[in-house]
Amino acid sequence: MTRRLQWLEVTPSYACNQRCVGCFSAVEGEGPVMSSRELGDALAEGLRQGARSLWVGGGEPTLRRELLGLVREARRMGYARVKLQTNAMMLAYEDAVRRCREAGVTEVNVAIKGATAETHDALTQTPGAFELLVRALGHCQRAGLALEGDVLLYRRNLAEIPAMVRTFHGLGVRRFNLWSLHADRAAPMEVERETFAPRDVVPHLVAAMDAFPDAAPDFLTALHVPACVLPAKHRRARFNPRDLDLLVTNPGGHAFRLEASPMEGGVYLDGCARCALRGDCNGLRAADLDRTGSEGFEPL
Ligand code: SF4
Repeated sequence: MTRRLQWLEVTPSYACNQRCVGCFSAVEGEGPVMSSRELGDALAEGLRQGARSLWVGGGEPTLRRELLGLVREARRMGYARVKLQTNAMMLAYEDAVRRCREAGVTEVNVAIKGATAETHDALTQTPGAFELLVRALGHCQRAGLALEGDVLLYRRNLAEIPAMVRTFHGLGVRRFNLWSLHADRAAPMEVERETFAPRDVVPHLVAAMDAFPDAAPDFLTALHVPACVLPAKHRRARFNPRDLDLLVTNPGGHAFRLEASPMEGGVYLDGCARCALRGDCNGLRAADLDRTGSEGFEPL
């Protein structure tokens, strides 16, 4: 039986004002967009399937002129939560934060790629991005918006996980979601050399969790690190995308449940059949297995 939705995610467009290494959605100009009608239909369909929380992603959603109207319409229709998933460059303008808040945005997920300007600006390929992010977080905090961090992991920033968590916790971010770079076989060399195996994340994730022993169980989660590579004490970090009950809707009416995306897993090893967590694990990403093999995955 298909579970009811909690979240609807919409991608108003793929346009972005950063050029992050490995990101396929950073396109010049508008690129493919969801029309106002497509967005309205998606909101209605999300409600029909049970969603009461809207996640506005991209691309960079703050570049879309219709953003505030979309947020207002969603709140009017009955969405109780509206989350902006953003690189936060535009939110460095205090007025933009105020307008988002007044329109009905309730929370902001900021994209974090480094603990310092050196790493963050290099991976976003945008000089000054770190400084703008820090400024934006101050405005969001003062506006009373809940803050989460979406940390995209690259080989280059793995060792900075504890420092990223410490630094951005100090700037008001209260939850961290670790996402691993996805690169298929055709990825260019600059992307390929930033890939890593799921187990490479573990020592840095453990160090970050141990630095916050009293944090809530979901303070730090990792989408692409299965429980079988984590020490027992740190398995609460594993995250099954199915738990979000999230429907993604992209330009052109392409819609799918998050857990069905090959970027979120879907491949199991022979040993997975006897794993106690098989029913609650979304498996591994084919691209990661191709690259690094199955060593280190031990059924629980
Ligand atoms: S089902 Fe497979 S990938 Fe998932 S935790 Fe168990 S052994 Fe690991």
